[in-house]
Amino acid sequence: MNIQAQTPAELVEMWDREHVTTILPSNVRHKDLQKYLEELKKLGIKVDEVGRSYANREIYQMEFGKGPLKVFLWSQMHGDEPTATSALIDMFTVLQKNRDKDWVKKISDAVTIRAVPMLNPDGAEFYQRRNLQGIDINRDARSLQTPEARLLKKLRDDWSPHIGFNLHNQNALTTAGPTNKQAAISFLVVLGDAARTTNDGHERNKRLVSAMIAAIQPYMPGHIGRYGDDWTPTAFGDNFSAWGTPVILIETGSLHGKDEMFLVKMNFVAILTAMRSVADGSEATFTAANYQALPANSSGSLYYFVFRNATIIDRTSGSPAASDIAVNIERRRGAFIAPAFIRQVGNLAAYSGLSEYDASDYNVVARNSKSIRVGEFAELLFFKKTRQINWSASDLETQFPPDAIFSVGRWVKGSL
Ligand SMILES: [Zn+2]
Repeated sequence: MNIQAQTPAELVEMWDREHVTTILPSNVRHKDLQKYLEELKKLGIKVDEVGRSYANREIYQMEFGKGPLKVFLWSQMHGDEPTATSALIDMFTVLQKNRDKDWVKKISDAVTIRAVPMLNPDGAEFYQRRNLQGIDINRDARSLQTPEARLLKKLRDDWSPHIGFNLHNQNALTTAGPTNKQAAISFLVVLGDAARTTNDGHERNKRLVSAMIAAIQPYMPGHIGRYGDDWTPTAFGDNFSAWGTPVILIETGSLHGKDEMFLVKMNFVAILTAMRSVADGSEATFTAANYQALPANSSGSLYYFVFRNATIIDRTSGSPAASDIAVNIERRRGAFIAPAFIRQVGNLAAYSGLSEYDASDYNVVARNSKSIRVGEFAELLFFKKTRQINWSASDLETQFPPDAIFSVGRWVKGSL
């Protein structure tokens, strides 16, 4: 057995060398997915159209392996949660290209993997969470009002998989515990009822999550969280588990300084580690300990940008006020400009910014209005306190060129 090919480091190298997704996941549209799937078909992967979306876009299922253990994965049931779609394409490509290697043979002999990448292609097209009826597919497991939810339930019921993977993205500012560390990836072993009854499948899933944590932890120490386990009666993960397919939920967040492709790679390593360890039995060498030690997802303590100790000038009164300013950017496709908004003004000592700036030497004014207000675009002009400025000047920016300008989430002139 080629032990080397199974280590997380080797999986990382393998992704670096062999991944085929080249577009940032947030920029991938249905036609891009179709191109990826055409290439997979050429490699010999079974790819079938299994249904259509509300707007009649094709929904596909890929299949690899011929083993008795049935594993079913689906991604992007929320249209603006794309990371795992690319990871699945890369995983099927690498499995197929390496199908003669011992460790892959072991997977294909033990496991049959089916995956639906981009369950919600209409949502993906418009980069929105819901489907085109405006329904959250992940709250439609019982009502089945959407064609996408009906398809997902049918794919499960027709095949009765032993393990399910529900693949999502979470807010970039979600933290691992009440810290300032982003939860780059969060896991949840989804139980099948409100009483949190576990069975052998759930216990095996905990060991699988422990194996995945061990694989990716070195690449993001402290940045893995546990997703909240509130029972959601209308959600698919909970119902899959209730129907007999215990589900592992993977929620990808963000990691400051790393791009979307890094998180594709981490998804690839995590999911392939789960496939490998369930196929070769090495999951049995894990306990639930890694999983149980995960800090719970937390939120509300982190902003994208915090400007500390600024002196805010109200341009109507000219009066100064010492304050911190917090700014967040909104989630958009990578190709689009993400708007930045002022989210808090005041003493923000209890909060952290992914980027923090000491503004104590500066007066700051709003670029496009008389005062700095929560909810407005974060267009900020910074002036050294040593300068004499006529704050009521109508063409302030021309008459008194700012020392630094923060606009659309970045420094466009100078910086603090
Ligand atoms: Zn989601």
